[in-house]
Amino acid sequence: MRWNELEAGLRRHASLGILDTYGEVEDPKGRYPLLRLRTAGGALCVITAGFHGDEQSGPISLMEHLPEVIDYARANDVALAVYPCLNPSGFDAFSRYNRNGEKPNNWFIDYELPDGRVIGELREIVPYTRTLLRTVGPAETRALIAEMERLPATPVGALDLHQDPYFDGHLAYAYAFGDPGPYIDLINRSERIVPIARSHEVDDHTHSDEHGLVYFHDGSVTDYFMRRGTAYTAVVETTTDTDMALACQVNLVWMRGFIDLCARV
Ligand SMILES: [Zn+2]
Repeated sequence: MRWNELEAGLRRHASLGILDTYGEVEDPKGRYPLLRLRTAGGALCVITAGFHGDEQSGPISLMEHLPEVIDYARANDVALAVYPCLNPSGFDAFSRYNRNGEKPNNWFIDYELPDGRVIGELREIVPYTRTLLRTVGPAETRALIAEMERLPATPVGALDLHQDPYFDGHLAYAYAFGDPGPYIDLINRSERIVPIARSHEVDDHTHSDEHGLVYFHDGSVTDYFMRRGTAYTAVVETTTDTDMALACQVNLVWMRGFIDLCARV
């Protein structure tokens, strides 16, 4: 799908909340709004999608299912802040990074170690002195970091929708932090739609556990929210091989599940 079609589809949902922009990015082929849609309610749930332009099921599932997601959030008194396509020129070009090729784009924080070194991820649990917000990187990421820092409150839930283009087959798994209980339930519900990549190498030196969950302080937006104190923060991944309708159904399970988790607080 191209950006114009996605944008038109998203804008059809404008009456369901406040649809506006938190910035704009530009490349040689055009200018792209950074869209957000917000709805009122109690606990805040942030949903992000489209960091990687070749992982289209996140933005498409929001285009197709936003009305029912918003209805469900309203019924549960959960406020939503939805960022349906974080990297519009990448989506348009069907490329992982933006059309200018700036990467990586899901890098929010660095870790300062006791010896003063600054690193982008913690492969092992080691002491660190503080986290530092990234101030350099692609325009989309800098705009999103500023936007997240402006949120009126720390969200209770933050869900990021991705896909995995690196291995074959119809599969889903998730990155998460903390007590696996809430996520195991969502994995089990996802398993009715697609198989789960349990105990699987999902990236170089990165493995899912027996539940299909990966724990990794990778400096991403998900890690940022975990460090900020967000109670529930996860990334749901389907392989890009997964049938689009099924990938969207998995995303819907996780969006509804995150609304349930936020509603409990
Ligand atoms: Zn991704």
